Amino acid sequence: MYNTTMTCIFCGIADGSIKSQLIYEDEDVVAFKDLNPQAPTHLLIIPRQHIARLDEADEQHALLLGKLLLTAKKLAKQFNLKDFRLVTNNGKGAGQSVDHLHFHLMAGRRFNWPAG
Ligand code: AMP
Repeated sequence: MYNTTMTCIFCGIADGSIKSQLIYEDEDVVAFKDLNPQAPTHLLIIPRQHIARLDEADEQHALLLGKLLLTAKKLAKQFNLKDFRLVTNNGKGAGQSVDHLHFHLMAGRRFNWPAG
């Protein structure tokens, strides 16, 4: 059901068939450097399981969603990031270009609010 490697680039990164600059992996979560960084530090944190976007997640994913956030926290500590931005784009209108849930972990520059 979730084997969408042929069509999903992030599934390919998660299963190793597509190369990436891997930062972290465990049985549920993978993190790698963004190909087109928008900040000095720009990592993507994804579930191995294919979930297209946050609004496709539900109660059964509660633990997984928690792991994604805790991974962001751990990576922020590992990279010694004091201030960082963690964001997910849900849907094309919000800027989502890859249909596999991911959190952007960005740091190393000043961020504006509200986000553009
Ligand atoms: P979004 O626009 O929120 O869907 O974010 C998708 C992100 O994935 C963008 O920041 C892209 O630069 C990044 N991206 C796309 N393909 C790759 C890839 N093969 N490896 C690493 N990052 C990628």
